Amino acid sequence: MAGLIAPVARLIEEFSKLPGIGTKTAQRLTYHVLRASTDDARALAAALIGIKENVAYCSVCCNITEAGVDPCDLCADPRRESGRICVVEEPLDVLAIERTGEFRGRYHVLHGAISPIDGIGPERLRTRELLSRATAGGIEEVILATNPNLEGEATAMYLADLLRPHVASVTRIARGLPVGGDLEYADDVTLIRSLQGRRAVER
Ligand code: ZN
Repeated sequence: MAGLIAPVARLIEEFSKLPGIGTKTAQRLTYHVLRASTDDARALAAALIGIKENVAYCSVCCNITEAGVDPCDLCADPRRESGRICVVEEPLDVLAIERTGEFRGRYHVLHGAISPIDGIGPERLRTRELLSRATAGGIEEVILATNPNLEGEATAMYLADLLRPHVASVTRIARGLPVGGDLEYADDVTLIRSLQGRRAVER
């Protein structure tokens, strides 16, 4: 862009790579950082680096955890029901369900959903880890809480077939969530109803 000095252009370009950030917003953020104190800019830079250096994946549920904390706090919490696993696509979905206070079991984070169009098969998700939890025994119920869209439904169907031989009950959260929407954007009441209304997955 004409009239832009290189350091400014560089930050605009980096902000533009973020999801949901267009050029206008990237420019606004860049000039905000420019006006901010050096300390604030340093804190932002340190937080960006820190998320890569200090975040790891829980070896049990595959959710994100602080580096060195494995299993994660949720998996290590003895007050959580260990016989119930709620399967979600993303770490943000765990936060959404936790916010409702409706679920007291454990989680499993897939880090995506099956999407043939994008070339994402089950082997690209954390399905192997889920299967080994299921086959280890002691699991009464696996709740499939993948998103209510095409990919989420395909993932739920695949997992139901995979898990049925190993666990007593495989259930799917009820419809009623906005179709095509993401779990993380659902309001608490809708999410609670969806969890309470879960049903065994039909063969
Ligand atoms: Zn965990």
